Amino acid sequence: MNSMTFLLAQNVSSEFLLDPIKPMFLFVTALLASAIVSKLVSDIHKCGLPSHKWHAILIGGLTAGLFAGIFIPTFWISWPTQIIFTVGPILLYWKTRNAAVPEKQKFVIGGDKVRAFFKKRGTSKSLAGAQLAFKDANKKDRPNPAKSDPILPAFQAADALLGNALHKRASRVDLVVKPDAVSAAITVDGIRSKADSATPEITTAMIDFLKGLAALDVKEKRKRQSGSFFVINEEVVIPVSISIAGSSAGQQLRIDFDRARTMTRTIPQVGFLPSQEKTVQSIMDPMSRGGVVLLAAAPGQGLTSSALAMLSGHDAFTAAVKTLEKNLIHRLDGVDHQVWTSAQGGVDYSTHLQSIIRRSPDVVYVEDAAEVGVGKLIAAPNNNEIRFYVAMPVDGVAAAITEWVKSVGDVKLAAGPLRLVIAQKLCRKLCLACRVGYQPSPDQAKKLGIAAGKQVELFKGSGKVQTKNKIIDCPMCNGTGYVGQIIISEVFVVDDEARVFLAKGDLKSAYNSSRLRHKLPGMQESALLRVRDGTTSLEEAIRILSPAASKSAAPAAAGDKPTSTTPPAAGKPAAGKSAPAPSAAKPASPPNKPKASQ
Ligand SMILES: [Zn+2]
Repeated sequence: MNSMTFLLAQNVSSEFLLDPIKPMFLFVTALLASAIVSKLVSDIHKCGLPSHKWHAILIGGLTAGLFAGIFIPTFWISWPTQIIFTVGPILLYWKTRNAAVPEKQKFVIGGDKVRAFFKKRGTSKSLAGAQLAFKDANKKDRPNPAKSDPILPAFQAADALLGNALHKRASRVDLVVKPDAVSAAITVDGIRSKADSATPEITTAMIDFLKGLAALDVKEKRKRQSGSFFVINEEVVIPVSISIAGSSAGQQLRIDFDRARTMTRTIPQVGFLPSQEKTVQSIMDPMSRGGVVLLAAAPGQGLTSSALAMLSGHDAFTAAVKTLEKNLIHRLDGVDHQVWTSAQGGVDYSTHLQSIIRRSPDVVYVEDAAEVGVGKLIAAPNNNEIRFYVAMPVDGVAAAITEWVKSVGDVKLAAGPLRLVIAQKLCRKLCLACRVGYQPSPDQAKKLGIAAGKQVELFKGSGKVQTKNKIIDCPMCNGTGYVGQIIISEVFVVDDEARVFLAKGDLKSAYNSSRLRHKLPGMQESALLRVRDGTTSLEEAIRILSPAASKSAAPAAAGDKPTSTTPPAAGKPAAGKSAPAPSAAKPASPPNKPKASQ
């Protein structure tokens, strides 16, 4: 062993003495790699990954690489070996990190995030103190104004409002400007909160500035106008859509950041539980097309995003996929999106839908079934070769079916083509960097269907992290404890037996028989499965399941409402102690263990 080391050392010395260039390669490689590793070390904790393990892997790789470089005698073997040892752990970290962080934080080759990561902040700002830079509707740069420019206050107000909203990861900003007051609100992970705003005069000037960017008519203060522009925040270009309308009460402005981002999901990305996803995929088979799928969610609960994901499940090259929408948010490749507006020369919604159906499409997404005649048209027996996805802006399976029956106007006709009902809510995901684990109390464990005596770790949001003996707001979630949202859903299969019950108007029996046979989790069970797998907290599950969470609670439906879609009787949603009551109807067996969250 000793002689071996001696031999290696001999080789090293001779190689190093003969050629000083080769050691330089080893040295520079090690230096570059340590610069990257030292950057990554500070990134590990922020992403909620185990620091000790990753320190060991990254620094271990660096050291092993250096040793290989020095001790392997032939340079053309030693240098590549050093690179493999050094770069391997970095690539592994990259892959693990991207799987752990939300979409926006991911490192992509050549991506803006990577460039920003290695660049000092604020280098490209043309105005000192500005957080953002703006690009107009045509993506042309709009230079930030100089100090003497009269537009400066309006620009600064826009910079502050949008910059702060983006810093807090807001998806949306709402403004109401009255002659004497401005109210501003931001929405972060579906939760709306108040935001700071400037005076009415400055805010009005700011709105004109934004309208100018979006190429809208600045003088028009009444009619609804929509447009888009771009902001650059921390080197990332973000599309911004704005919609503005005025009345005697003042102007109303809605700003959405990167709206299309959540609109390009595929079915696996929607966030179904494995058993639900399997059921949803099974109706995508081109051989068994036809039938009506109801998609139900209260406003603001991600309905459009899921509807587009369903459409993307059909191959747009072999199937003619069409939509009839009132609010077009995003166009999918290969899908014929048609927009209906009330001003369309007197053609009503159902007439427009009729003309779409006449062209024998394979798949049609109908955004509004409440319009007169729409339900009847869809349920007509001669349309049974067409798959319809019908949006229902209501909460829960029972409410969706009730609305559907109302739209068709005949319970037997309505039951005929029904195949699936998918109801969903949005639920905040725990921030992986600052969530804290705890053992559920015996009472909580029982309600979550955890066997007595079994050790299970649940998580709750803290919003705090420790750095150098100081407790600070978590930088990943800005102290909210949550990052991003996932859907919690209930997939209800309308099979032949359920259809017979439905046709008789017996919603309860239809519901119970289907759940017993297909063993798919109900809404409450789905939420609790996401608590068990650590995706979300018990508090969040209770919040979304309590009636107050969605303003449009289940409408007063016909008497037969399945009991288990009723939200739990949690008295005070905020009090963490009150866990949801177990499902009242118990057709399904105890929940299967869900796989790790996607
Ligand atoms: Zn956090």
